[in-house]
This record gives sequence, C-alpha cells and structure tokens, in this order.
Amino acid sequence: GQENGLVSESTQTSAALFKKACKVIPGGVTANIKYFNPHPLMMEKGKGSKLFDVDGNEYIDYLLCYGALILGHGHHKVFEAVTKQMMESGTTIFGTPHKMETTMAEKLIELYPGIEMVRYTNSGLEATLLAIRTAVAYTGKQKIAKFEGHYHGGYDQVLVSVNPDMDRAGEAAAPKAVGESRGLPDYYLQNTVILPFNDLEATEKILRDHAHELAGVILEPIQGGIIPANQDFMTGLRKITEELNIVLIFDEVKTGFRLSLGGAQKIYGIKPDITALGKVLGGGFPIGAIGGKKEMMMISSARGSRDILTAGAENTDKQDPLYHSGTYNGHPTILAAGLATINVLEQEGTMDKLFARTQLLRKQLEEVYKSYGLTMQTLGMGSIFNIILGEGNIKNYRDMSQSNTKLRKQIDYELLKLGVYTKPLNRYSMSVVHTEEDIHRTVAAHDEAIKRVLN
Ligand code: PLP
Repeated sequence: GQENGLVSESTQTSAALFKKACKVIPGGVTANIKYFNPHPLMMEKGKGSKLFDVDGNEYIDYLLCYGALILGHGHHKVFEAVTKQMMESGTTIFGTPHKMETTMAEKLIELYPGIEMVRYTNSGLEATLLAIRTAVAYTGKQKIAKFEGHYHGGYDQVLVSVNPDMDRAGEAAAPKAVGESRGLPDYYLQNTVILPFNDLEATEKILRDHAHELAGVILEPIQGGIIPANQDFMTGLRKITEELNIVLIFDEVKTGFRLSLGGAQKIYGIKPDITALGKVLGGGFPIGAIGGKKEMMMISSARGSRDILTAGAENTDKQDPLYHSGTYNGHPTILAAGLATINVLEQEGTMDKLFARTQLLRKQLEEVYKSYGLTMQTLGMGSIFNIILGEGNIKNYRDMSQSNTKLRKQIDYELLKLGVYTKPLNRYSMSVVHTEEDIHRTVAAHDEAIKRVLN
C-alpha cells in the first residue's frame, strides 16, 4: 500500500542489508525509533546537508541525527579539531581530568543563564538521569513529575506517558502515568507524576497536591523541539516550583544550541535549577552534560573524595556524595568536537542565518500545502520545526495527536523517493550548511509528493 511505498528497485541493497541485520540484531535496528516500514534505509556517506544510501541515492538530510548535526555532515572545523586533539595529545582519551573539561564548562556557564557548574555524561539520557538523581539527593524527596508527551531518554523513571494511548491516559487535566515499555518496574509508574503541558492551573494543582513528595519537575521547554511552553506557563512553573522546594529541570538536550546559543532558558528569561544538555554539545559524538546551581551541583563528588564536597558545599559536608561516574565522561576528543561546533555557531550572523533559512523553508512549505487546499501548519522554533496536518492552536501532546498522521506519512514516503530524508513523521532539523538550493529542492519535492499522494 501507499504507506509502505518505498521504491524497491532503488533501495534493493538497503533491503538486503536490512534482512541480514535482522538475523543478528533484533528488528534490524539498534534503537527502536530507527525502524520504519518496510525497511529503513542503510546510509553509507554524508556530506554537508546530504546523506547517501548504500544504493547510491542522495538525500537532503533533515533528520541530522535527531538534531545533533547542526553543522551538517563532516564539517571541516569539527574534523580538524578532532584530528588535532588526537594527534597533539597522542591519544583518544586520557581517563584523567584535563583542561578542556574546564574550558567547555566555562563556555556553558557563559551561555546558559541557569548553569553555574557542570558535569559530563555520555548521552542525553544519562544527563537527565543525573539531573533527577541530583534533585532527589538535594531535596530528600522521592518522586519526579514530568509532562505528558515529553521525552527525556529511554530509562525507567521517564519512560512514562511519552506517547500514551488516549484510552489509557485519563483526563486531560489529570493525566495518568502510562508505561511506554515492557519491563518497567511498577516503582517508576508509582513514582512518576504526570502533568499536562501548558495548563498552568492543572499543573499547579497537581504540584501542590504532591509537593511533599516531589523532588523535581522535568520538562522539555519546547516539547519535542516544536511545541513551545507559553511564557506565562513557564513563569508560573518557575514560581510554583521555587515556592514548593521542587527542583526545576530543563531538558535542553534537543533545544540546547538550536533555539539560541543559550537554549530555551535564554529565550524565556527563566533560570532552571538544573539543565540537561546533549546532542549538539558533542558535535556529532555521544555526550551529555548537566549544569545548574552550585549548591545542587556540589552534591556530586567522586565517591571517596569528601575533600571535594567540603571544599565548596557548606550544606552537604555531613552527607554522602551523590554517585556520578563514567569511563568516558568528559571525553577529550568529543569535547574538542563540541567546542569546535560552538565556536562556529558563535561566529557573527551564523545563528541568525540558520533561523532565517529555517523560516524561509517553513514559509514556502506552508504555501505549497495551501496551494493544494490542505490544512497544514509548521510548528517549531529556531532551527527545528515540524509539519502538522491539522488546524488549531497546538499546545500539547493531546492536541498534536489529533493531526492527520496518515496523510503526512504517505507524503513522507514519497519524499524519501524524491531525495528528502526525514524518518517518516519525524521533525525537521536544519543545519548551517543547508543552502537556499536545498530549500528550493525540498519545496519542489513536497509539491511533487503531495501531487502523487492526492492523485
Ligand atoms: N531528552 C531529550 C529532550 C531528547 O530529545 C533526547 C534524545 O532524543 C534525550 C533526552 C536523550 O538523549 P540521548 O539520545 O543522547 O540519550
């Protein structure tokens, strides 16, 4: 059918390789999200804004490794920085402290209003996990609140109500905790409180009811990178969490460096207590980080090294440190890639140009869909957006789930055939190397895809 409409002749090698992968890798993919019908495309090369699959097909890439590749594929500054770091140091990693850890921390403190100190992890997942553990340690409370539809990585505490079935999700103003995976211990369903995004009144009520047991609230300030929190909602949430001694955690893994160099917090003018970063921070390599208030961050300490604690954290000197470890934390090769990436983004006009290109693409896409009489809006901020085939003001997961994903999927499959890559139904991320020519081709491909689907 239309939904499985990848042209088999032009993606034969992908199909064969995928079949082979399925024999040794469950489902043929190393992350469930990477699968799509009838088989995902196996990529072989990247260059700038383009991806090339094993059959030699060329695609304009809007997946950009789920947003991580803000400089596109193979940016020379990143390649140079990584090579230089390895060649000059003579190693890939020291396994000890080194000065670039401080350089990057100073950079993050300069850019992010809520960051006073920094610790590194190896992924965004680990960053939000560490943020949550810090909140629990700091407050002595046990539960965490998260918003329905928000994703914070694939682990037990937050694999709850990310993409829940409406028939199990309860009332909009009092959403139920719905597990997103087999194998989740009941503990996490019982200790994760679900909140309705952009509904301040309902959120406040739930937070007040659970205040005595809530260590932290974690949220994506822009859900999925595309649905912004209302300013009033943000301001209100900051005020209430402060009053109730609940740690406010911004998960800026996706929004960091993509909405502004200082993330969503810079745009909203709100200081979260803890910020989680990842993706762009690693310049295409795996990394995560948390940064936050000194008094909270200082709970982290190498186990057994109480000296670190007593050196700066007056209020924690009688407590055990929070355990935070990782063989590859603060990886010098990756920090070199990240610093090179930030350096490019900081060059005057770079972010503005990126945002202007994104706006141009959004505007032109809107015009194309409109010309076919389709109800469509683009939703997003900065360098991320998505195409929503539906009307009305979309302010949370439930609104979003009303849109026409069947038609959208059909168009996305046609787009793959026409050389525009995004995983069906995925959002669009832009890079600084996407050109006006890319935009022109992308808009023309949409025009053709819509024509084919509607015929
Ligand atoms: N938080 C958000 C908002 C994300 O978008 C992601 C990844 O998509 C994560 C956390 C998890 O990051 P990672 O995939 O690096 O573990």
